[in-house]
Amino acid sequence: MTLGNPPYSKCPSCKSENTLRNSHTQSISEKIIRTITWYELFRCSKCGWRGWKSNYLLSVRTVKKIFFYLLLMILASVIVFNILKMVI
Ligand SMILES: [Zn+2]
Repeated sequence: MTLGNPPYSKCPSCKSENTLRNSHTQSISEKIIRTITWYELFRCSKCGWRGWKSNYLLSVRTVKKIFFYLLLMILASVIVFNILKMVI
């Protein structure tokens, strides 16, 4: 999956535009953050800055994630409701 470079991505360190590139996750914790949040790991090709940036407010990935959490919440509440019904 290639997301390309968002037009408003600006390096927080050197303030240059269009220097940020998607950086590969190097550890499990980075992979987890990337999966559960809509932050992406970036590296600046100019100054070498590396960090997290939420560079898009609403994308397909974000919408999918929101739907996933909603589904999870509904599922959890259904399970809890059924358990409560069994107990009472
Ligand atoms: Zn930079």
